[in-house]
Amino acid sequence: MQTPDFGYIGRFAPTPSGPLHIGSIMAALASYLDAKKNKGKWLVRIEDLDLPRVKSGASDSILNALDKLGLHWDGEVVYQSNRIDAYSEAFSKLMDNQLLYHCNCPRKRVKNAPYPGTCRHRSIPISRQHAIRIITDDKSVGITDRRQGAYFQSLENEVGDFIIRRADGYYAYHLATVVDDAWQRISHIVRGADLLESTPRQVYLQQLLNIKTPEYLHIPIAVDKKGIKISKSTGGHDALILEKPTQVLFNSLNLLGQTVDEKMAGATTEELLAFAVTNWEISAIPVRQSINIT
Ligand code: GLU
Repeated sequence: MQTPDFGYIGRFAPTPSGPLHIGSIMAALASYLDAKKNKGKWLVRIEDLDLPRVKSGASDSILNALDKLGLHWDGEVVYQSNRIDAYSEAFSKLMDNQLLYHCNCPRKRVKNAPYPGTCRHRSIPISRQHAIRIITDDKSVGITDRRQGAYFQSLENEVGDFIIRRADGYYAYHLATVVDDAWQRISHIVRGADLLESTPRQVYLQQLLNIKTPEYLHIPIAVDKKGIKISKSTGGHDALILEKPTQVLFNSLNLLGQTVDEKMAGATTEELLAFAVTNWEISAIPVRQSINIT
């Protein structure tokens, strides 16, 4: 699955677990600005694979909010719930290469990483009810993030063999996102820094599936004063987006360390975004994994 070079293609890939919040708006905005600054495409993918986390109406509310903010995407929105066959194909490839194994360890017992590989050498009867894990190794794998710098892990020692298909039958986020980023020919990923520590797992899967690793830029996530991530399920921003979209853009640009010209106060979202694209500066983004916004 080697991906040819199609120029810059970026994406925003929200899980529809609730309305957009300030952290996800920052991720949407940063990925949009970086794509536009590089004269690239900006795609939206709804990551509605993990049905227990999906909230009814959330996808539409996210798309409406993006529209209201003036963050217009290119092409059709992709829904992961329509892409199960592609994940299944990648899964079979890994299985055929003897990289996967069944695991029936009770979740409670193995909650804390790294998974010690308990089931790697046990031959347990095959069952649809088992989680499926991938064999990792101790080589260093990772990325040089465009802002956060080098981030590498030895997966076997720091994470352990991770889950590719869950016991409830859902393909894991890491597999789905890697398969979709390749299929959508994403060249640049801009997203929240809470996913930085997931990235080596994704790079490992890219290597095994013969997918070119995109460029990554992780931006700080928004947290409350206790350091807890503002999430779609707790920090929805819908009302403010509908009422004052430019104010939401202003706040997000500020949090991203971008120049915000006060003269733009009366501007439309289009004017503000055009200004922000011209002045987009990655070196101004805080090199931190979180920002307290309360
Ligand atoms: N779906 C993930 C989220 O909403 C983001 C995935 C990604 O950007 O790779 O947090």
